[in-house]
Amino acid sequence: MKDDIERVLIDEEVIEKRLDAIAAKVERDFPEGTLLVIILLKGALVFAADLLRRVSRQLEIECLNVASYHGGTDSSGRVDFLDRGFPEVKGRHILLLDDILDTGRTLHAVKARLAEAGAAAVHTAVLLAKDKIRDEEVSVDYVGFRIGDEFVVGYGLDYQGRYRNLPYVGVLKESVVGK
Ligand code: 5GP
Ligand code: MG
Repeated sequence: MKDDIERVLIDEEVIEKRLDAIAAKVERDFPEGTLLVIILLKGALVFAADLLRRVSRQLEIECLNVASYHGGTDSSGRVDFLDRGFPEVKGRHILLLDDILDTGRTLHAVKARLAEAGAAAVHTAVLLAKDKIRDEEVSVDYVGFRIGDEFVVGYGLDYQGRYRNLPYVGVLKESVVGK
């Protein structure tokens, strides 16, 4: 698996330090009361697990399965909600977690859906944000790292379902993506 990586963009230690800072900010920013965390699967799984263990607040967790990428390295332009149900969010203060902000379509669609369902407030955190013009303008409250407009894997992010368990964020070799 590691042989497929061209270069490491953000290593594990750097990510962990950044998560300490984001967790501290989350603790300061949210009002008293139980927080509802919504994790966008599967990409935000690793980010969420590492971040939430640093947040010493009462919280509940819900997960949503959405897809905007369908196995390749380009966004399909459509956001599919893959779950049968939708969590009860009426009146709740929500922290929405995603792995990466790219075109902005995913977070835009999910935030709209949460607002429609009556959420009191939605704060958003992403591990990564690509430096590019977005198809949908979306405000994000916590950004782990800003990166260039290139396809990355690891720390939850996949290529064709694989590489999510790499402990760092990296770029795949061209020979792997081309295959
Ligand atoms: P958006 O809707 O903002 O275009 O994209 C969000 C989703 O696209 C992310 O949750 C992620 O699943 C996928 N995505 C966007 N950029 C990348 C990338 O560089 N690498 C991987 N593995 N997934 C990405
Ligand atoms: Mg994803």
